[in-house]
Amino acid sequence: MIQVTELGYMGVGVKNLEEWKNFATSIVGMELVDDGESDRCYLRMDYQHHRIILHADGSDDLSYLGFRVAGAEEFSAMQSQLSTAGIKFQVGAREEAEERRVLEILKLNDPGGNPIEIFHGPEVQFSKPFHPARPMHGRFKTGAGGLGHCIIGEKDLAAAQRFYTQLGMRGGVEYKIRMGKRVLELVFMHCNERDHTVAFGVGGPDKRLNHVMIEVDNLDDVGLTYDLVRKNKVPVTIKPGKHSNDHMYSFYFRNPSGWMFEYGWGARAATHQSEYYSEDVYGHQPESGGFDISPNKPENR
Ligand code: FE
Repeated sequence: MIQVTELGYMGVGVKNLEEWKNFATSIVGMELVDDGESDRCYLRMDYQHHRIILHADGSDDLSYLGFRVAGAEEFSAMQSQLSTAGIKFQVGAREEAEERRVLEILKLNDPGGNPIEIFHGPEVQFSKPFHPARPMHGRFKTGAGGLGHCIIGEKDLAAAQRFYTQLGMRGGVEYKIRMGKRVLELVFMHCNERDHTVAFGVGGPDKRLNHVMIEVDNLDDVGLTYDLVRKNKVPVTIKPGKHSNDHMYSFYFRNPSGWMFEYGWGARAATHQSEYYSEDVYGHQPESGGFDISPNKPENR
């Protein structure tokens, strides 16, 4: 089976590009790249040309997730794999690949309607060391684990799990959380050493994207970012704590689009046997809006 190897990049639509630029650089620490295109700019986290593309399209939501395959052979074999599974896709023209700074690209939708891109050959700029926009103790932990993970909205969890399995991912239910009489099940899928690259099962009926997790290699950067978030009165949605599945020590805060960033350190590698949990190791108490970013909640308006 051909497997995607990482979440290589993601595109997000934003209403206020200037506010986002300031947030991504001075709070999160990413490097801003402006290639002179009026409708977009890029955020760097390592040697790659970009990891996040900000599109000034007003949507304040996910535009697409870009999953990498190893090379041209895998890119071609992935097309056969998708066809065999009855999954429709479109191979992008050369211009579409060049727009993303990759060698080849194909586009499709997951069962929840989230736009997905599969590519190989991102532009890597070894002549341009990553330069965080504000001081960092360490660096973003990307590498073989890709840019991080994200939780997206899916109406049909089983269909979503089948779809991501067809991309070569593994995973399943990792949390069963009792909420009154209801048990909330969360599904986590991985494609590399990172515990999960994509997950689904939480609310977010109004947005495709619940949160994106970015990891740092130095615990002090979680503390530094937490202080910056508090100092700038950015709403903290989940207080610092440690997850049971990936063992990430992290906290969550709201970005200018209303979905969340999770900023974490110290994750363990994906387990190769299934497990599930009913609560976190410690912490992660909800604060401003908690895990549910739905604007129907008064505190999220
Ligand atoms: Fe997370």
